[in-house]
Amino acid sequence: MRTLNVALGDRAYPIHIGRGLLDRADLVLPHLKTRRVAIVTNDVVGPLYLHRLCSALEAAGVQVSAVSLPDGEAHKDWATLNRIFDVLLAERCERSTTLIALGGGVVGDMGGFAAACYQRGMPFIQIPTTLLAQVDSSVGGKTAINHPLGKNMIGAFYQPRLVLADIETLNTLPGRELSAGLAEVIKYGLIRDAEFLGWLEGNLERLVAREPDALAHAIERSCRNKAEVVAADETERGERALLNLGHTFGHAIETGLGYGEWLHGEAVAAGTMMAVELSRRLGWLSEVDVARVAALFERAGLPVYGPKLGVERYLDLMAHDKKVEAGRLRLILLRSLGQGVIHADASPAEISKAIEARCR
Ligand code: NAD
Ligand code: MG
Repeated sequence: MRTLNVALGDRAYPIHIGRGLLDRADLVLPHLKTRRVAIVTNDVVGPLYLHRLCSALEAAGVQVSAVSLPDGEAHKDWATLNRIFDVLLAERCERSTTLIALGGGVVGDMGGFAAACYQRGMPFIQIPTTLLAQVDSSVGGKTAINHPLGKNMIGAFYQPRLVLADIETLNTLPGRELSAGLAEVIKYGLIRDAEFLGWLEGNLERLVAREPDALAHAIERSCRNKAEVVAADETERGERALLNLGHTFGHAIETGLGYGEWLHGEAVAAGTMMAVELSRRLGWLSEVDVARVAALFERAGLPVYGPKLGVERYLDLMAHDKKVEAGRLRLILLRSLGQGVIHADASPAEISKAIEARCR
């Protein structure tokens, strides 16, 4: 098992990464306020892993309640959030009860938001079961649900007390979901870790083949990068925005096609290629750099071109992004491979050309 720390002063917390962690109640117990937990999971993950987690906790003398949500992003809404509160109240959970989210990013975001709200805040633990959740959404304290008018628009910053990433849970993950998680893994290399980027170029097939040692290394390195960024800028006033590389273009793809058509990581990969192309046009990256990034995404089974939505439609959708400030589009671009920058000065004409070049 590998352990990292997210350095947030008196709210610091550990991330444990390893195999068989679902059975390790001993890792959970020190972070509980009382021997009482409520587990939030969903109808896909619950049947696979809930029993093991419950058994381990109950054997350690913990009283467990559980709620299973319908699967999917479409249920990341108020009505489903309320089902969590229904169970917490019906089972008389207290403010000292710990909420454990067992699942992918949807369950983690909803569980975290429920924990932030229930009785004005109860302790929270993340047990992420997708690669995306293990390298990204479970770390950093962003929680949210969607509103019909916008994704992740209702939420809170609320940090967990512990993150347990059991890499064995990834064995049941559909291949497409694994690939989507790899988009975020590659992102860390691109924005701030050139050495890791080199490691990825040498080891990507091992990740696709789910080799445990390779996965553990990639998850650890990704979490280390995210933890450093979050510790420096918890509420995204500056550096944390770098984590949005490819996301403004990507959100346009997700919204433009209708949610669920492309996975988030797929849209981020194609969106990152647009950001990379724009960086090349600004003279920061070479043709060779662009080809290197594209090759990495392709080896991960990810798209390197966006759908042809029309440049106007892209620009319109991008203008609605959360990353717009005072009407200016703040894009994350690359100064070099391994060095992201926040750039608010690209002209619509330049942005359009980059989009056009990376649509097919
Ligand atoms: P997800 O939670 O929908 O999981 C993907 C699919 O895999 C689902 O069908 C899920 O039920 C299933 N699944 C989960 N674990 C499994 C396992 N071990 N075996 C088999 N199937 C499994 O999607 P995701 O990609 O994990 O997360 C996406 C969500 O995360 C989005 O809502 C996004 O907004 C959010 N997110 C949040 C942050 C953050 O900082 N809070 C960061 C990135 C993404
Ligand atoms: Mg993302």
